[in-house]
Amino acid sequence: MEKIKNVVVGAGLSGAVLAERLASQLKEEVLVIDSRDHIAGMMYDFKHSCGITVHRYGPHIFHTSNQKIWDYLSQFTAWHPFCLKPLARIEDKYVSLPFNLNSLRQVFPEELAQHLENKLVEKYGHGTKVPVMKLRGETDPDLQFLGGYVYEKIFEKYTLKQWGVSPEKIAPGVMARVPILVSRKDGYFQDTYQAIPAKGYTKLVENMLHHPLITVRLQTPFSTIKNTVQYDRLFYAGSIDAFFDYKYGELPYRSLRFQIEQKETEYYQPAVVVNYPNDVDFTRICEHKYFLDEKTPHTVISVEFPQAFKRGENDPYYPIENPQNAALYARYLADAQKLPGVYFLGRLGAYQYYSMEQTAAAALALFESL
Ligand code: UDP
Repeated sequence: MEKIKNVVVGAGLSGAVLAERLASQLKEEVLVIDSRDHIAGMMYDFKHSCGITVHRYGPHIFHTSNQKIWDYLSQFTAWHPFCLKPLARIEDKYVSLPFNLNSLRQVFPEELAQHLENKLVEKYGHGTKVPVMKLRGETDPDLQFLGGYVYEKIFEKYTLKQWGVSPEKIAPGVMARVPILVSRKDGYFQDTYQAIPAKGYTKLVENMLHHPLITVRLQTPFSTIKNTVQYDRLFYAGSIDAFFDYKYGELPYRSLRFQIEQKETEYYQPAVVVNYPNDVDFTRICEHKYFLDEKTPHTVISVEFPQAFKRGENDPYYPIENPQNAALYARYLADAQKLPGVYFLGRLGAYQYYSMEQTAAAALALFESL
């Protein structure tokens, strides 16, 4: 039996934070395993043959206003500042997303746009964020009209494609991630720090894991070491239901398929991300050279197709937050808490729709609680 103080399952951001802290702060040995053939989990990026850094599992933009998280990750990377300004394709127009005061002018004649702007500013004030469901529920007919418009043109079909159900059936917090902004400043996020690791996310995670006390084994599912490695602590960033052999049933997830294509043109679209909240069967197209402003004669895009998660066929990307799933997760968690020295973390272990910032913060908090 091989003996090691700490085993970390999953070489994504959560696992990398834990391994790095255990090795650098507690001077303990850590074995990090991952069933994939690469580190960095869903943040993984790679250099495409035409020289562009491609986000294999979809667009990732790091954003935080948390100085501690920013300082922590900045030990392992330099940053390329990057403010995400996606566009939504509405009929034949490109419209600023999140829907803001500029979007109003892109879709409505000036007079109507000004009238709606006045109404928004009067009701909510400049700089505020308004969830579409709130706007839709207003009694003022103009605000209600605008809420209905944004709901129909931006959220309804996109959400149906993304989640397989209508917006009413998903947790309100999901759509509230992309509120209407009473502002003229374009930008998906409003955080103090918004950036991409200058050498990519894989390099960032590689730097975190680069420590004499850390060993990384890829293509190593937990099942292959479960009975051969003895450990004091286990940090498990995989699905909690898989850990318990699905004894209470499967936790539902949403999955994605990415079609990565090289295009023989310098630029394919006017922004890094263009959302298609309409009848096509993909949700968005990402053009990767924008992230690090890479200058190449060709370009690489990825077209994103949401799909149901099927165990053994594709990967779980998004936990589906609702009371029933939370109750199922709670049953697993109650069992997990009876296991001394076993901790669940990350999007899958915590069954939370974490951003990278939240993932890093939760992993650091777990380390600090040890
Ligand atoms: N959303 C939408 N239309 C858009 C963008 C977002 O309906 O053009 C909704 C959709 O339900 C989506 C949620 O808002 O799942 C959160 O969007 P976000 O861009 O944060 O999703 P992620 O990048 O995590 O996939």
